[in-house]
Amino acid sequence: MRNPHKNKSTRKIRELTVVPELPDLEVAKNILNRTLSGQTIEEVEVGSPILLRRPTAEIFESTLNGLSIREYMRYGKFLIFHFEPAADLYINFMLAGRLRLQSPADPKQKKMGFRFKLENGLDLRYLDARNMGKIYLLLKDESTALIPNYNEQGPDALDPQLTPDVFRQRIKGFNAVIKHVLVNQRFIAGLGNAYADEILFSAHIMPFRKRSSLTDAEIEVLFNATKSVLQNAIATISARIGDTLQFEVRDFLQVHGKGGEPCPNCGSSISSVKSGLRIANFCRKCQF
Ligand SMILES: [Zn+2]
Repeated sequence: MRNPHKNKSTRKIRELTVVPELPDLEVAKNILNRTLSGQTIEEVEVGSPILLRRPTAEIFESTLNGLSIREYMRYGKFLIFHFEPAADLYINFMLAGRLRLQSPADPKQKKMGFRFKLENGLDLRYLDARNMGKIYLLLKDESTALIPNYNEQGPDALDPQLTPDVFRQRIKGFNAVIKHVLVNQRFIAGLGNAYADEILFSAHIMPFRKRSSLTDAEIEVLFNATKSVLQNAIATISARIGDTLQFEVRDFLQVHGKGGEPCPNCGSSISSVKSGLRIANFCRKCQF
């Protein structure tokens, strides 16, 4: 028998979880490059080996101990640490991954993927309340082909080479409803449920339109909305969080997570419709 109360609370938890997307990770990457590049790792500890897809916890700890972090990069929803000497760490934060900078003396969290004690005396910790993140350490000369689905990703949504022409040509290879195309990392990499809702609202396009029904003019509007929504989000989040590694700033979004609230354009109630595992938020008056 169905238990309506249980379903309700499960749904609530899912909606409250901020799932990291491109803007959160881009801002984190910038903060890490600004504050923690060149740092040598003085101590490595794996907390939840289940998050480590490769190699083993023992090799992870022994390889990274003593290495310095040369640079932080991002591709789609992966944050990448490049080490010196050569090794590369790829983190896919999935539903609930977080980074925290704290004192090594702070109690270790139950859901700690790993921690690096840095030469500046601080711990950089990867936490994951859901234990669903995926961490891959590639050793010297190992290729990203070892990371499932990594090489199959489309261009990063912020890649300058993703021009209106490239965007239009690529999108025509996908025939699902438009929201599902936007969150498909094989089309472009970096978007999830929240920013797909925001981009479609900005472009005045209904999330359930078939991609094949979009005109070239609408695809161009969608391209411009993709770039501007992401750039604006990065600027807003950067201004709000300074150098703190927060992934939780989402209150500036226009429709995502705002089902039942008034649309910022027209004032009518924002719709909330379940589609597969995701909830789509949109305005029935402003999106066509
Ligand atoms: Zn509206």
